[in-house]
Amino acid sequence: MLALKILIVEDDNVSALLLKKALEKNHHEIIGVAATGEEALEIMDEKVAELVMMDINLGGELDGIKTTEIINEKFDIPVVYLTASSDEETLHKIAGTNPSAYVIKPFNIRELNMMIELAIFKDKKEKELQKLNNELEEKVKKRTADLNEANKELKKALEKEREIGELKSKIVQNVSHGFKTPLTSILSSAQLLQIYAERDQPQKAKLIKHSRKIENSVRNLNNLLTSVLFFGKADANKIDYRPSRFFTAAFFNEILDVVKANNENGVEITTSFTNLPKTLKSDTDMLYQIYENLLSNAVKYSKRKGNVHFSVEVKDGIMISIIKDDGIGIPEKEQSQLFDRFFRAKNVGITEGSGLGLSIVKKCVEVLKGDIAVQSKAGAGSTFTVTIPID
Ligand code: ADP
Repeated sequence: MLALKILIVEDDNVSALLLKKALEKNHHEIIGVAATGEEALEIMDEKVAELVMMDINLGGELDGIKTTEIINEKFDIPVVYLTASSDEETLHKIAGTNPSAYVIKPFNIRELNMMIELAIFKDKKEKELQKLNNELEEKVKKRTADLNEANKELKKALEKEREIGELKSKIVQNVSHGFKTPLTSILSSAQLLQIYAERDQPQKAKLIKHSRKIENSVRNLNNLLTSVLFFGKADANKIDYRPSRFFTAAFFNEILDVVKANNENGVEITTSFTNLPKTLKSDTDMLYQIYENLLSNAVKYSKRKGNVHFSVEVKDGIMISIIKDDGIGIPEKEQSQLFDRFFRAKNVGITEGSGLGLSIVKKCVEVLKGDIAVQSKAGAGSTFTVTIPID
């Protein structure tokens, strides 16, 4: 058994002596015997104790429990209580000071030894636990600091990415705007050329042909820039829903006029409008993008002299539009990418396009809280169905 340096705190001389003898017999060293709490603390300030045997009822200002509280605060050593009573009140008081063990008087030596061993064991385990706890706390602190550091880095990287994104979209917007002005003057010059050629030009036919080419290319470029600008806004989440009331028939006629003007394949366009109210309230820019793109595609991807049918019906506050063509169709395995930016199916051949129209359509349908579906088969035409809630 371990030999310990023990302080006895006991105000009854006889009990103290008996305890001292018993402990010494077990090879412990008694560093002092104190009759009061104050005396015990004085001894402990001078000598090192490894264990205190503490009587609960002491004469003097401090009783055993108060003295133990001070010892717990100042010294990190186990205290074994000595008590004559095992009533509930005393046990409750003892428990509050977390004693290492307690011995009920009168005690026998065997019991005393057992309690001392228990006290030392408990103290050792508590210290180990405390050490583990401290280590764990340290680890948690370090991990938290690492995590905070990583978070800071992440925030910085995100901020940088956002800045780069903003810069990119500003460049795109500025360059696109910059292109628009010269394009407009090229377009009007090409149109003027056509007018002059109509008059008295020996090379009239050639001049008209080439100026039309210029006009078409400029229109294509212009559309492309409009698309780029649209995505610039969409990516910066700057697309606003701006509803206004408009005349339904005038709106659809305008789109059909534009589509027919570009119908170079001699495609026949038929329409059917059912139950359309005279006026509608929605965002006309968005609606324009949707119908212009879908109808232009239907015409563009039709075979020569093909048929396009455009139907619009309003039912229960929903506008259902169907754009059906009997053109080249979309290969089934490519259909899942149909609304991706820059997607163009393998069967488009030399038909020009940017692959941006349908992704714009999709975005506009989303903004209008509608839906778009497609049915198509390569070589057997396509049908696009758009449903949009309307006021
Ligand atoms: P593009 O400028 O190429 O027409 P879109 O985004 O409008 O771009 O369309 C993407 C692709 O979807 C087209 O390149 C074409 O392969 C296919 N597509 C769209 N509409 C039709 C259609 N009516 N018939 C056949 N293919 C179509």
